[in-house]
Amino acid sequence: MVSEANEPGSESGKRSDDRRGVPEGTPQEGGASSHLAARLSPRSPGSFAAAAMGYPDSLLAMSDALPVALIDTIRARLGDRARPGEPLARYTSFRIGGPADLLVLPDTADELAHVLATAAAFGVRLTLLGGGSNVLVGDGGMRGVVVKLGRGFARITWNGTEAERESARLGRRGLGASEERSAARAARALDGPPDDLNLVPIHAGAAVQLGRLARAAVARGLAGLEYAEGIPGTVGGALFMNAGAYGGELAHAVESVEGLGRDGRALELPGRALVFGYRRSALPPGFVVTAVRLRLRRDESGQVRNRMDEARARRTAAQPHGKANAGSIFKNPNGDHAGRLIEVAGLKGARAGRARISERHANFIVNEGGARAADVKALMDVAQRVVWERSGVWLEPEVQLVGNW
Ligand SMILES: Cc1cc2nc3c(=O)[nH]c(=O)nc-3n(C[C@H](O)[C@H](O)[C@H](O)COP(=O)(O)OP(=O)(O)OC[C@H]3O[C@@H](n4cnc5c(N)ncnc54)[C@H](O)[C@@H]3O)c2cc1C
Repeated sequence: MVSEANEPGSESGKRSDDRRGVPEGTPQEGGASSHLAARLSPRSPGSFAAAAMGYPDSLLAMSDALPVALIDTIRARLGDRARPGEPLARYTSFRIGGPADLLVLPDTADELAHVLATAAAFGVRLTLLGGGSNVLVGDGGMRGVVVKLGRGFARITWNGTEAERESARLGRRGLGASEERSAARAARALDGPPDDLNLVPIHAGAAVQLGRLARAAVARGLAGLEYAEGIPGTVGGALFMNAGAYGGELAHAVESVEGLGRDGRALELPGRALVFGYRRSALPPGFVVTAVRLRLRRDESGQVRNRMDEARARRTAAQPHGKANAGSIFKNPNGDHAGRLIEVAGLKGARAGRARISERHANFIVNEGGARAADVKALMDVAQRVVWERSGVWLEPEVQLVGNW
């Protein structure tokens, strides 16, 4: 079974199922592992559902890769937050990635629903991008529509919604049975007693930076996200990846997840339905997370702060600084650490083009400036092959390979 022990300086003792003898295939268009690169329906220009939306044939002509009518429809609503041909390198922590056919930055649930409906109507692939800190986007860019949630999804509400606060107040005043039930629901602990008012409900938009949320929680004396200081990216990406470090992971604090289904309908999924695992969650295909409800425990604020300081110090001591990267490249195999295996394989410092296996932490690949996705992929291939030959372990990528290669 899995060792919980952390490699000094690793991202929390990352681990994966032991994949001995199970080499991965090469990445597919849209990503070998990105569940949200959902092809909404087969694309065939002659049978676009868009025709049913009343577009004349001439408007269904394709631009370079997308129907002009699709771009126009989305632009009419989002204006310059719909960007054809936008280079994705500027949206990824690796600073690598070719252009998206169309990058869109919706700011409201209505705009997002419009984008989902339009992509579905045209039968065009739709992919979600959060902070871009766990993806390697191919040099050929990404086909279809790439959605990155905008500022409208970057709000945090402390102590839950007004309705939740009200029901908690009613419960404390000992009112009628149904009010008490809703108060208990509002104050419900994830694993604790139903009336645990030490658990504070928080509503965080999917575009909130996880580190910002963690620091703001610590400033309020709330425990449960101290490990997250230094994990880049958004709450939505962290939920999808079940981000974690040093024994903590987002799953521990998740009450429920709000979002839009592939058909644009709003849904709220309870945390336990998401079957969180090591760096994964089981969101329905095509589900876009718009917000996450969390519960954090009140604690002694000095202790909370100390725990975050410790996590920060461990990270600073172990990880490379000043060069673009995407964190751990491979998951830790059962009972071992990908960084250790790559190091004993003698690959620290190995280069391909402008990419390099970090001297400081062998499970990081850094972009020394101008690296291509193909350079990083070449290093990943070498690491998988050499570690397999030396140790008989097939390393499974943690970073998601998406787009065209
Ligand atoms: C320096 C560094 C250190 C890191 N340390 C850690 C660490 O300690 N622990 C750890 O777990 N990770 C770590 N990472 C990896 C990365 O930061 C996390 O996996 C992070 O949670 C990814 O979030 P993101 O918003 O950047 O997601 P992205 O990389 O943009 O996307 C990741 C996946 O989430 C999906 N996704 C994004 N937003 C949504 C949404 N709103 N709805 C549905 N799906 C969505 C995407 O489609 C994609 O499949 C590190 C990365 C770096 C660069």
